[in-house]
Amino acid sequence: MIIAGPCSVESEAQILATAQALARIPEVKMLRGGIWKPRTRPEAFEGRGEEGLVWLREAKQATGLPTATEVATPEHVELALKYEVDALWIGARTVVNPFSVQQLAEALKGVDIPVFIKNPVSPDLKLWIGAFERFQKVGLTQLVAVHRGFSYYKDSPYRNFPMWEIPIELTQRLNVPIITDVSHICGNREMLQATAQKALDLATDGLMIECHNNPDAALTDAQQQITPEALGELLSHLTFRSKVTGSVESDLAGLRGEIDDIDAELLQLLARRMEVSERIGDYKKLNNVTVVQMDRWKQILADHIAVGDSLGLDRELVNAVFEAIHQASIRRQSEILEDGTNQ
Ligand code: PEP
Ligand code: MN
Repeated sequence: MIIAGPCSVESEAQILATAQALARIPEVKMLRGGIWKPRTRPEAFEGRGEEGLVWLREAKQATGLPTATEVATPEHVELALKYEVDALWIGARTVVNPFSVQQLAEALKGVDIPVFIKNPVSPDLKLWIGAFERFQKVGLTQLVAVHRGFSYYKDSPYRNFPMWEIPIELTQRLNVPIITDVSHICGNREMLQATAQKALDLATDGLMIECHNNPDAALTDAQQQITPEALGELLSHLTFRSKVTGSVESDLAGLRGEIDDIDAELLQLLARRMEVSERIGDYKKLNNVTVVQMDRWKQILADHIAVGDSLGLDRELVNAVFEAIHQASIRRQSEILEDGTNQ
């Protein structure tokens, strides 16, 4: 299932032009459009509100595409239903707040329309599952997970780090379909194709992709939106695999994705460690302290091996990894000190 449409509904002309172009792509099954936008800073464009719902309904009537929008409060739910929005999604910033999720669930009691639940911004699987439970408890049955990546502490090529193992774990724990919102994972246009393919390889049930008739002029998320034509092109280059749960291929792809993510995190951590080590090098140079302090290092290594033991890690592995890291740090700090003597 492909859900496409602009980040925000901006004007009647924009949503109509975008929807009409999207309706020509057979894979596109639903039109998305944000009406109320959760923005980081208060001066930013916060969505058109009720008049946007009028245009979204017109776009549905003109194209036959069912529509979806984000709701964050019971008032949003009431208005979205009044203007016949077909499906709702709960945004990543709302799913972090159990009070909000509970209010939304209560507002939807007795209205069993499809609800897409995005992952919370923080990588917290229990919080995501808790949101499903709140909607299930009021009787909603058409729940779908949307994986849109997670905030990450360090620069990463992604706007929101995918951490594929979390959505994979979610689908193992809950029997719900999952859609991958590649636009908010990538945050740019360039990585969409590869990320969409990766999502399909890991057995997603569909994609959410932000499309705008004039992406460069978009009022929100301009850098990641693409034209409907570019979406058609992207879809034509994807390999759709049949989703056979439990097949050797999909299990392996899932596990490999998990390893790739962990390796990426290890590299980020190594880079961070090296930065701190360089700062220590600068400090040592300033204060004329020797680079190697053997007693301290022996103690650290013994502590790491003990922690490794408690985690069931092979001692040789822990020893080899930390020796290699330590040697690299010493080399770097020596260079820093030598720079000092040359100056
Ligand atoms: C959106 O879909 O435009 C949006 C705001 O998404 P998220 O909640 O994933 O940031
Ligand atoms: Mn967006």
